[in-house]
Amino acid sequence: MKRTIGQIASMCGGILHGEADTEQMVEGVFTDSRRPQSQGLFVPLVGERFDGHNYVQQIVSEAGAAAFLWQKDHGAPPAENAIEVEDTLEALQHLAAAYLRETGVSVVGITGSNGKTTTKDIVNALLGTTFKVHKTEGNYNNHIGLPLTVLSMPQDTDILILEMGMSGRGEIRLLANIAQPDVAIITNIGESHLLQLGSRTEIARAKLEITSGLKAGGLLIYNGDEPLLSQVLAESETVKPEGLKLFTFGLVAGNDDYPTEITSDGEGSLFITAQSGKEAFRLPLLGQHNVVNGLAALAVARHFNVDVDHIRKGLSSLKLTGMRIEVVNCPNGLTVLNDAYNASPASMKAAIQTLSAYKTDGRKIAVLGDMLELGPEEKQFHEEIGIFAAKHDVEVLFTYGALGTSIAQGAQELMPTANVHAYTDKQELIQYLLVHLHANDIVLVKASRGMRLEEIVDALKNGP
Ligand code: ATP
Ligand code: MG
Repeated sequence: MKRTIGQIASMCGGILHGEADTEQMVEGVFTDSRRPQSQGLFVPLVGERFDGHNYVQQIVSEAGAAAFLWQKDHGAPPAENAIEVEDTLEALQHLAAAYLRETGVSVVGITGSNGKTTTKDIVNALLGTTFKVHKTEGNYNNHIGLPLTVLSMPQDTDILILEMGMSGRGEIRLLANIAQPDVAIITNIGESHLLQLGSRTEIARAKLEITSGLKAGGLLIYNGDEPLLSQVLAESETVKPEGLKLFTFGLVAGNDDYPTEITSDGEGSLFITAQSGKEAFRLPLLGQHNVVNGLAALAVARHFNVDVDHIRKGLSSLKLTGMRIEVVNCPNGLTVLNDAYNASPASMKAAIQTLSAYKTDGRKIAVLGDMLELGPEEKQFHEEIGIFAAKHDVEVLFTYGALGTSIAQGAQELMPTANVHAYTDKQELIQYLLVHLHANDIVLVKASRGMRLEEIVDALKNGP
């Protein structure tokens, strides 16, 4: 973003303090005092442990920031070119919303329990063949990351692709009202954040808050395999724009788009969809859940009239943000499916199905760890994963963590006890795996982020 100090003040509803130079140009917005941008606008945020206001003076004098926001309850600003506001976080959000309205770019907003980042990456690859696109980096998907993503958008962007994350009610509404998407995607509803929200219906309501920000005549692309989404969409409390258009996708025939055929070539999926007719697409990702993510992305591409050749080119150029069913070939011949990024019951099942569908002569092995934040029924969720693994061809199961033990208990009902190993010490587990896994084995590694199972993947990659 490139604007004068005067323009920024009016965009975020702030007041210039004292002798500020209203015509001075500002380029870029940042909140992290450790990564200042010279000539940029510093937005000091008030956190639980840190207050960005303490760094303003240093950032203006040493890092050459052109201007800064200043929350009025902090007394007099310590430097020139201060824009005074009631609340710096709200001002950042207003600034992003105003910038979006001024630039008039098209916006695609993506929410859902699982698959947001993956779907975002696919949408980006498809639209990027034909348009100038800008997307959320990594997981910058919350009330701070989303405005910063908007404000870091280059001047010539045609389409902005925004991931929208949440952990409670009201959060997606806030993000959607800043972004006002032309197209919104809800990838699915899972059990993540059940602890905070209480029920899957409440999770569906939270995701569907995205429609409250959709532009008039906007398009909602949502997972039609999830009955709760259609149900909540029909509730009178769900705020919908005028002329809302709907498009459903999923595995089930009867959705507006669904796969009529899926095969795998070991590193990717070949699929035909109801909408695409006879032409097969190749997605360089494993797992039918990724084909489903692909269907949502294809619907976006069609909405923006990307032609089939470009869609094909886009799919083949796809680069994913790491640790999502990444195929890692280890030097000793072992293959690891690294899905250590995160886990919830829905994504665990998706990953186990991916392992189950993998064509191999070797053994199918799963190393599964705790799924966090699942609330009072967490043990039952873990046991169900154990049963699911046993029913889906997992031959040897290793679990890691206190809750992981419940996965092992579930599996033991259906698998030989000798093939189920529960660990609570990661190093011990790694040592055992290094000795007992063979070349040819295929090993899925997955748990919640907090379990840091990438340490196991790294150990297997490096060998003993
Ligand atoms: P976060 O909430 O952490 O931002 P996300 O929604 O962005 O997650 P991704 O990063 O795309 O999701 O994928 C996270 C994990 O979810 C993947 O490792 C994969 O196991 C699983 N996953 C991806 N897509 C789906 C899907 N459509 N259904 C179920 N699981 C999925
Ligand atoms: Mg994400």
